[in-house]
Amino acid sequence: MQNNKYIGAHVSAAGGVENAPVNAAAIGATAFALFTKNQKQWFAKSLTDENIENFKTNCQKHGYTPNQILPHDSYLINLGHPEEEGLNKSRKAFLDEMQRCEQLGITLLNFHPGSHLKKISEDECLQRIAESVNMALDKTKGVTAVIENTAGQGSNMGYRFEHLARIIELVDDKSRVAVCIDTCHGWAAGYDFASEKGYEEVWKDFDEIVGLKYLKGIHLNDAKKELGSKVDRHASIGEGLMGAETFSRLMKDPRLNNIPIILETPEPDKWKEEIEWLKSQV
Ligand SMILES: [Zn+2]
Ligand SMILES: [Zn+2]
Repeated sequence: MQNNKYIGAHVSAAGGVENAPVNAAAIGATAFALFTKNQKQWFAKSLTDENIENFKTNCQKHGYTPNQILPHDSYLINLGHPEEEGLNKSRKAFLDEMQRCEQLGITLLNFHPGSHLKKISEDECLQRIAESVNMALDKTKGVTAVIENTAGQGSNMGYRFEHLARIIELVDDKSRVAVCIDTCHGWAAGYDFASEKGYEEVWKDFDEIVGLKYLKGIHLNDAKKELGSKVDRHASIGEGLMGAETFSRLMKDPRLNNIPIILETPEPDKWKEEIEWLKSQV
């Protein structure tokens, strides 16, 4: 087993998905995230054969294998939508994103679980999310749906490890469901990644409730708001309340080996420097 830390950022795919690996390589990234379409639109035009070929060529050229790529779905999608129309539209858009990944040879798709909009119970919402995932997995091959933990803002689900576990429990194909942990979201939801004792407890809880084998990605963000605030405000590494030491600890943690570790920090100009620093802490 290799012990690699794959570290990168959510880079721009402006001008075509094939530009994402080029942008990632330019900042010294060994992993990257991207949107495979405009994330502010429900639907976009299909990928062309040229997009697909060039994406694959550029990934190969810069040494990105599928376990170093973690695309993010559109923020419009709500797989736990309480209403028929919104739910169907979300499911259609999510399937489209899964199919884009399939075409690009990408094996992971990261998504925010969904929101109940105060119209259904939390568990009903989780059941809908799982059903949505089942429907998308049914129609695709080789792509894993990667659930991201959330800060618990508004009516967003996924702020407790129990929510992630519940979705996984209800997904039929356990080999194609996984979890991405966003450090800022976890912190905002009340998981103390920043103290030495808290850090070990959080991962112990995660392993007991969800299972470390489901951990397939990390969003690495420092936090502007305090522990348990439920407010999602990312900070650059070392400039937030979680602090540089937390991220140094994460870089030394073998639980984070061989999975994409993605910065979503607010200053893209600093990504190169942040990646360099993180690599130096491994
Ligand atoms: Zn995130
Ligand atoms: Zn966030």
